[in-house]
Formats: sequence, structure tokens, C-alpha cells
Amino acid sequence: MNSWKGYTDTQRIAYFSMEIGLTAEIPTYSGGLGVLAGDTIKSAADLKLPLVAVTLLSRKGYFRQIFDSSGWQQEHAVSWKPENMLELLPGKTLVTVEDRDVKVQAWLYRVKSPTGGEVPVLFLDTDIPGNLNEDRAITDHLYGGDQQYRLKQEIVLGIGGVRLLQVLGFQVRKYHLNEGHASLLTLDLLNHHRRVVENGSSELSSWDIPKIQSQCVFTTHTPVEAGHDRFPYSMVEKIMGEVVPLDLLRNLAGKEEMNMTLLALNLSHFINGVAKKHGEVSQSLFPGFEIHAITNGVHPFTWTSPYMMSLFDKYLPSWANEPELLVRVDNIPDDEIWEAHLGAKAYLFQYIQEVTGRTFDPDILTIGFARRATAYKRAKMIFTDPERLLQIGDGKLQLIFAGKAHPHDDHGKRMIQEIQQQAQYFGDRIRLVYLPNYNMDIASRLIPGVDIWLNNPLRPLEASGTSGMKAALNGVPNFSVLDGWWIEGHIEGVTGWSIGPPATETTVDVNHSDEDVLDLYNKLEKVILPLYYQDRSGWVKVMKNAIGKNAYYFNTHVMMRRYVTEAYLR
Ligand SMILES: *Cc1c(COP(=O)(O)O)cnc(C)c1O
Repeated sequence: MNSWKGYTDTQRIAYFSMEIGLTAEIPTYSGGLGVLAGDTIKSAADLKLPLVAVTLLSRKGYFRQIFDSSGWQQEHAVSWKPENMLELLPGKTLVTVEDRDVKVQAWLYRVKSPTGGEVPVLFLDTDIPGNLNEDRAITDHLYGGDQQYRLKQEIVLGIGGVRLLQVLGFQVRKYHLNEGHASLLTLDLLNHHRRVVENGSSELSSWDIPKIQSQCVFTTHTPVEAGHDRFPYSMVEKIMGEVVPLDLLRNLAGKEEMNMTLLALNLSHFINGVAKKHGEVSQSLFPGFEIHAITNGVHPFTWTSPYMMSLFDKYLPSWANEPELLVRVDNIPDDEIWEAHLGAKAYLFQYIQEVTGRTFDPDILTIGFARRATAYKRAKMIFTDPERLLQIGDGKLQLIFAGKAHPHDDHGKRMIQEIQQQAQYFGDRIRLVYLPNYNMDIASRLIPGVDIWLNNPLRPLEASGTSGMKAALNGVPNFSVLDGWWIEGHIEGVTGWSIGPPATETTVDVNHSDEDVLDLYNKLEKVILPLYYQDRSGWVKVMKNAIGKNAYYFNTHVMMRRYVTEAYLR
């Protein structure tokens, strides 16, 4: 295909996401949401689904994380050259920001699958001569700046995205909003449709809301009210102006403030949460809307280590495009699974040596924990009682942490610092490192190389979680609080282990921190360590079950087939 025009002769699903993580070299993502978007696109390409993705260019990325000598996070700008990775498309469009016309252009990346499928990804960019300097910076920083900056970004993403697809000749059969950041696209669609079918009356009934709903699918990712983007109408009027009349907007997006989630809920015919539990939690947050659940996944080929991959290729050929075949993992001999895992472990330990200078022991049970350093993830839980942990794990345990805190999140930064102080206290009794700059490359080296993947978020705030699925794909069992996807994947002692009681409540008010901590220590001491050190074949059985009972199902191939049958074809 020599030009993007080849993409425009089929009707496509337009997949909008504020962040997309395809590879570590294109740093336009911050964490789970973006990586999920990237995995979604890759599976769509493998399955030859007609998709086009739209996101922001984020010229300065999220940030590169380093630590000062006290373990405090420092943020450095990421420098990358879009022109080395992407192809600038000729079309441009305009959006209005503070009464100014702002030009928007797009860079193309082609996600190509070995199956022959291809998905174009458009990265929107306002860094164009003729735009004011401040407007040229709108697409610089992912999740940077203040609320006004965020609103401008969402105007470019939602409204600019729809218009640019049109300018480039894309035919769109559905819009899929991955989280509420792109909700403004619904307003442009409303307006556009009205211009076509109506003229004159500004009564609400003259807006063809059912028509727009029939075109939009909305996936919510945030299980708490406070997590949803909202903007005061005074700011909306000043920055966005009237894309549709304000009384209509207030009807659709909330009386007091423009709530991006509410806007998307009101203008979509299919709405879903990202795991069964999260569907229920969202349903109680938004009574009056029908909320479905499609559990997240991970892209099998991207997240399988080269060591496991060669085994899967040998025993389960074509697993990568048909991950259901992993159900036959028991055909792989135990010792080959264990050897492959030791390969991934050595590869990780080599990296740790290079980056931190510390030597980890391949014979010691190693626990991994990496995710955004934000309060609800409770990264420090395992250190609640350091003496107890020493009693359990002295000489028998190693810990590897990673994850970035948002630049404004001092609490998250303090957590990271305290974990590093803990490392000094433990010394060589329990080796502990905090790897800097967690990104997709580090994730793909870290997750397969540990023996257990730990997760202990505050219920029910882990909407789905996906790193645990990456672990399962590599035969790394999960040891996790029952929240998000793990409620669906967990069979005690078979696919991994739970921490604390089952998730029955749907609010953060009722939690079980004390129980969680005790259960974590008890299981580690009485179940996990003995199995690892005294019953290797029992351990490998759990590894295989993680692959055969978790990874075969919790992947983006299964997830995309569900989006097609349950959302896109409706
Ligand atoms: C998979 C991934 C995440 C998401 O992990 P969660 O367990 O869902 O929090 C975040 N960051 C990176 C770099 C990842 O690869």
C-alpha cells in the first residue's frame, strides 16, 4: 500500500484513544490505558478487522523517569522524532480554540500483522507553522499542563479527529471511544448531522440524538466518580465556544459542569466496563444506563517472551493468532517450561545488573510488582510489617518494583522513595530493587522474568488490570487481591493465589487492608514458598495453568471478537 488512500475504500471502526502504546519507541502512552489501546489495534490487525485508530502525537511523550540519590523521582522530557517513525499525511483540518482557528494534521503509522491485516493509526498534531506557539504546543505533553490545556487537547482529539478522518476520506461505520477523553467527537457528529438534515429550529428535538448514538460505542475505564474528566462551562465557553447550543450541551453533559463520561454515556448505544466486576461497579455509578462488560486482554505475540514463544511455536503452532490453542499447554514437557522460564529470569537479572549494579540470584523466588505509582495500587503493602517479611523471606525472597508516579503526584513519589529506602534496610537479606522508567520494553523483560506477579490494589479500583495477563501468558502465576480481571481468572492454588476476601462490595469505603496484609504474609509463608522450594513439579503445574486457563482467554484476540459481535455489529 503506497498511500493511506488504500485504507479509505472500506468502512472502518474509528477507535479513539488519548494515548496509544504500540512500542516503547513511540512514547505516546503513560500506562495501562494506552497499552491496552495498542494491543487492541494489534489484535485488530491480526484478525483483519477494519479499524482506524486516532490519538494525539504527544511530541514530548509522557516523561522519562530517573531517581535522584534520595530515590526521589525526576521527570525528563522524552525526545523522539515522529518523522523517523511516522509518515506525515497531506490533509489538514481546523478546530476552534479560544476563537482562533487551529490547524490540525496527522501522522500515519501502519500496524502490520503477519496475517496480512493492517490497521492505520493517525497521530494528531498541531505543531504547524501558522498556529500560535501556544497552540503548536497543544499536542506536546500527554497528561501535562492544566485543565485548560487538557480541554484543548480533547478538542483536538475529538473534534479534530472526526474532521481529519473526513478530510482524508475515511468512511466510518462506528466510533469507539476508549475512555471519555474523545467524547467531544459526539458534538461534532451531532452538529454535522444537523446541518445535513435540519435548518432553522434550535429545539432539542431537532437534534438527531438516536442517529449519533447508533454510531458510538463507549468503553469506560474508571471505577470512581472523581476519575472522570469534567470542565466548568465558563471554561468550555471560553475555549471551545458553541459547537452545539449550550442548553443542548448541558442536557447531554451535565447541568453544572461538562462531564465527558456523561456526554459519552448519553450519546452511545453500547457502553461497557472492562471486566465483569467493573461493569457492575459502573452500573451502580451510572444508574439509568445499560452497562455491559467486555473484559480486557493483552496482545499474545507482543507480551510473550522469546523463551516461551519458541516453546509455543514448537508445541502449539499458530498459537499467536489463535491463542485459544494455549489450552493444550499440558502437551509441553515440564522441564522445557521451567527452562524457558529460567531463560526469561536470567535475561531480566542481566538487565537488573546493568541498570542497578545489583546481582540477583536465579535460585531465589522472585516477586514482581510494576504499575503506575498511585495510591490505590498500594505498592508498599508487602512492607507493612518489615520484620514479619524478613522472618518469612530472609534469603528466600527477592523483590523487583517499577512504575512512574504522575508528575503532580507527590504521594506516589514518596511511595517510590520509601520502597527504595526499604531496599537499603533489607540489604542482601531480601534483595529489592526499584527499576527506573517503567515502559513497554521494561515490562516485556520484567514480567516474564519474575516467578510471581503481585497485585494488591484497593477494591474495586482496579477496573481490569492487564499486567497480570502478561504474566499469565509467560507462565508467571498471579498473587493478587480479587479485583478486576483476577476475579474471573482466579482458581485458588490452580491458576495462582488470591489475597484477602472476595470482592463483594462495590465501594472503596468497605475494604480489608488488615486482612489483606495478613493473608499476603500467611500465603507467602505457608503456601507459596513451600511449593516453590519443595515441589517444583507442583509449581510448574500452576505455571501451566496460568497459560492454559488464564492466557488462552484473557487476550485481545478474544476481546476483539467480543467487541465485534457485541458492540460493533449492533
Ligand atoms: C501493561 C502495562 C501497564 C498496565 O498494567 P496494570 O497492571 O494494568 O496496571 C502499565 N504500564 C506498562 C508499561 C505496561 O506494559
